[in-house]
Amino acid sequence: MTAERARRRFVVRGVVQGVGFRPFVYTTAAESALSGRVSNDSSGVVIEVEGAPADLDEFERRLRCAPPPLAVVESVERAEIPVRGGTGFEIAGTTRGGGRTLASPDIALCADCEAELRDPADRRYRHPFVNCTNCGPRFTIIAALPYDRARTSMADFPMCDRCAREYHDPTDRRFHAQPIACSDCGPRLFYAGPGGGAPLAAARELLRAGGILAVKGVGGYHLACDAADAVAVAELRRRKRRGDKPFAVMAPDLAAAREIASVDAAAAALLTGPQRPIVLLPRAGRPLAEAVAPHNPDLGVLLAYTPLHTLLFGLPGDPVGPNVLVMTSGNRSGEPICFDDADARDRLAELADGWLWHDRRILVPCDDSVIRLVDGVESPVRRSRGYAPMPLALPAPIPPTLAVGADLKNVCAVADGRYAWLSQHVGDMDDLATLRAFGATERHLEELTGVSPTQLVADTHPGYRSTEWARRHAGNRPVRTVQHHHAHIAAVMGENGLGVTDTVLGIAFDGTGFGPDGAIWGGEILAAGYKGYRRLAHLAYVPLAGGDVSVHRPYRMALAHLWAAGIDWAPDIAAVAACPEAERAVLAHQFTSGLGCVPTSSVGRLFDAVASLAGVCHIVDYEAQAAIEFEALSRGADPGDTTYRFALDTGVDPAPIDPAPVIAAVVADAATGIPAATIGARFHAALARSVLETALAFAAPDRIVALSGGVFQNALLLSTTRQLLRDHGFTVLTHRRLPPNDGGLAFGQVLAAAAG
Ligand code: ZN
Ligand code: ZN
Ligand code: FE
Repeated sequence: MTAERARRRFVVRGVVQGVGFRPFVYTTAAESALSGRVSNDSSGVVIEVEGAPADLDEFERRLRCAPPPLAVVESVERAEIPVRGGTGFEIAGTTRGGGRTLASPDIALCADCEAELRDPADRRYRHPFVNCTNCGPRFTIIAALPYDRARTSMADFPMCDRCAREYHDPTDRRFHAQPIACSDCGPRLFYAGPGGGAPLAAARELLRAGGILAVKGVGGYHLACDAADAVAVAELRRRKRRGDKPFAVMAPDLAAAREIASVDAAAAALLTGPQRPIVLLPRAGRPLAEAVAPHNPDLGVLLAYTPLHTLLFGLPGDPVGPNVLVMTSGNRSGEPICFDDADARDRLAELADGWLWHDRRILVPCDDSVIRLVDGVESPVRRSRGYAPMPLALPAPIPPTLAVGADLKNVCAVADGRYAWLSQHVGDMDDLATLRAFGATERHLEELTGVSPTQLVADTHPGYRSTEWARRHAGNRPVRTVQHHHAHIAAVMGENGLGVTDTVLGIAFDGTGFGPDGAIWGGEILAAGYKGYRRLAHLAYVPLAGGDVSVHRPYRMALAHLWAAGIDWAPDIAAVAACPEAERAVLAHQFTSGLGCVPTSSVGRLFDAVASLAGVCHIVDYEAQAAIEFEALSRGADPGDTTYRFALDTGVDPAPIDPAPVIAAVVADAATGIPAATIGARFHAALARSVLETALAFAAPDRIVALSGGVFQNALLLSTTRQLLRDHGFTVLTHRRLPPNDGGLAFGQVLAAAAG
């Protein structure tokens, strides 16, 4: 045996706390009989390990290449230190030093814990809070780092002896699982409402009888009811004052999901993964109540992700309850999700018939994430539970920065060095409660990351509440502003790992963004890098009369586009018929005089206009409803050989992309009775082709095109455009980790600010 020994010190950074990293280090060291110690501090996991150099090399390889499943190793630092001798490997406690580590997102119930939950012989049989180092709540129960039980809401529950033994046993799969609990020491379940007896049984009976249940989840309260019960679903809509916006549904498992939706391999992996987002899937099989998702062929499906959900559906032997539940955020439309128990009892008093809750406090709210699959690739709609606060890498270091995002679908971000952390979904900043939630979210994010911003970044929109918030809270720190569509393109560039000097042809299509010329932008072709942009082309301006009114009434946008195209408002055009005559007269006056009108290049509004001209949707009650219904209708429809064409005039700078010929063709098709689905298919194809035409006219020789903005949530448009560009030799950058909508904007703001 050789006597040669070495001792090395490793500092591992990344998502390495609360994910079973120390037990992994312990067992890895023990397998090679290495001695030493491992501890957490706020810079990460610190390891000292001693043994034969070859064994130490192998140990390091496993640290880097085979960490525990939920860990994200960002870096491993190594130093040779003096040999100390000694035997055994020790897991030391947590010390608070300099630097920073990262908090883990909340993770869905794992297979091992679910097996225990279902095993009558296990001591955690039917325990609604079973978790381990690989699963359970994290982000929503952590008050501060380093991550230790004392700094979580589990501090309220002293461990019993048996849990404490597991917690301290390095060979146990609950070693240092901070939220460890059992029926003797863990949180307790309560029920209030009609019926009685055991909370879960009473809650299930309420659901079975058609009642609406407020149920406390990981990041807040949901409102649940039987998704097959038309009366219950309609009642929930009425009480929530929610028009047509689809509800998500929860199924107990993959088999149940397959009974209501078409689930391919990619969808199955996403549904059962550790994040368990809501996945938008085509409906199939057994129909649910129509009011679950009116006029929508898709269904937002998620699987039970906490032990409490699994128990609510029932284990074998339980009385049968509903097989699929509507699971919608516990709030009134537009307000932030309820997460505090007293607040939920108060605010949900007129919405719920009963409450199922527990006494483990939620420290920060976190809505469910929503993801769509486009050509088998993830296209996030909302990045929240399960993903926040995972960091994103930056191409260049940045000083401590706070980016406040936009006013719709708000998400904020902090950044420092080479990382940015995006918050969970905050919501639309149009009410006071959401503004307050924004402040709390931002503080919590700073607390979890240890970033103390020295500069702020906001949208250039002078009327945004987020921008106003930044100015009010900046103190003497500088507030930089970034143009909305530039931020969209920077976000998709950053997500795809582009470098500081890279540039792209950016296609930013969305509903609304402030243009420096005072117009409302939203159909922008930009030559862009992180540092800046040049507007090469844009959808030709049409007048937007009266702001929000025109967003809520697509027929007004149809009339604007008709007016701009010089087409008479003939009463047999569906959009014209939908507009009351008095309103028509006012609009005509406004368009002629320019009074109360702002020019807009918004592609979102163009979708509204065409959807109305085709007779699909004249009034919306949720954002992008017309576009969503129009896309759904157009999917699978054959455009035939008729092609619509936008007119691109490259002789003008920036070049206008004139939709007038498309508008005229839509009106002509509708007049001859061409079905709306066919018109829709032709319109989507024409828009994709116009992106190709602008790319051919304007792309740099490297032929890199980046697509962003909320309009690219449209799967048909995204898929067609991406394919068409690829077929012509373009490299196409799209979003996979962040939403193309304003939920990803803060990341772009960070990147633009970092570039100077
Ligand atoms: Zn587990
Ligand atoms: Zn216990
Ligand atoms: Fe936008």
